[in-house]
Amino acid sequence: MIRENVEKLLEELPQGVELEAAAKTRTAEEILEAIEGGIKIVAENYIRDVKKVYPVIEKKAKWHFIGTPGTQKHDLLKKKNLEIFDMIETIDSVEIAEEIDKRCKNINKIMPVLIEVNSGREPQKSGVIPEDVEGLIRKIAQLKNIKIMGLMTMGPRFGNPEDSRPYFIETKRMFDKIKSLNISNVEMKYLSMGMTNSYQIAIEEGANIVRIGTKIFGEREK
Ligand SMILES: *Cc1c(COP(=O)(O)O)cnc(C)c1O
Repeated sequence: MIRENVEKLLEELPQGVELEAAAKTRTAEEILEAIEGGIKIVAENYIRDVKKVYPVIEKKAKWHFIGTPGTQKHDLLKKKNLEIFDMIETIDSVEIAEEIDKRCKNINKIMPVLIEVNSGREPQKSGVIPEDVEGLIRKIAQLKNIKIMGLMTMGPRFGNPEDSRPYFIETKRMFDKIKSLNISNVEMKYLSMGMTNSYQIAIEEGANIVRIGTKIFGEREK
C-alpha cells in the first residue's frame, strides 16, 4: 500500500513540487517501501526515530528535520545528527541558529535551513510570528555555516482544509517579499507547506515542498 500511495501522490503532484515523507513513528521497513515508491526526502520530527531508522536507510534518501529543535537541542546538535540532516526546516530563533552554526563550523558543513513561520500566530506553537520573520532572517544570514533557503509553515490545524488557505497565502507573500529583498547569503528557493489534509491548497498557494505522513503510511497509532 505504502508504495502505491507514494506512486499515486507523485503522479498527482505538479512538476517542481517535492514530496517529503513525514515519517515520525514509522519503521525502517515502512520508510524503505516509501523510497521504493519514489520518495527522495524523509522528514523526521524526533531524533529518537532517526536513531532507529537511519542505520537501515542511510543515504537512500535525503533527511530533513521538521521537529521542534528547542526540545531536543542536545541530540540535534550532536555531530552525528548534524551530519545526517540535509536540511533543518524549523529554525525559529537566533539562539538555535547560532548553536547549529557553531557546530557545523566544527564539521565543515553549511547547513541548509528553512525559517518556520507561526502563520497562525498561535502562542503555544513553535515558529516565528510573521512580523519577526524579516528581522530574524537578517540576523541568521550573518552566520557562515547556515544557509537560509526558504520558509516552512504548519498553519493551524483545521478540520476543513480550506481554512488553512489564508495562512498559506500570508506565508507565500512573506516568501516573495524576503526574496525581493535579495539579502546576501539568503536564497529563497523552498516553501514548505501542506500536509495530508491541506497539501492541495498549499500547492495552489505556492508550496514547492509538501510534507505528507498519513496519506503515505496510513493513520498513526496514538
Ligand atoms: C506529522 C507532520 C506532517 C505530516 O502530517 P500528516 O497529516 O500525517 O500528513 C507534516 N509536517 C510536520 C511538521 C509534521 O509533524
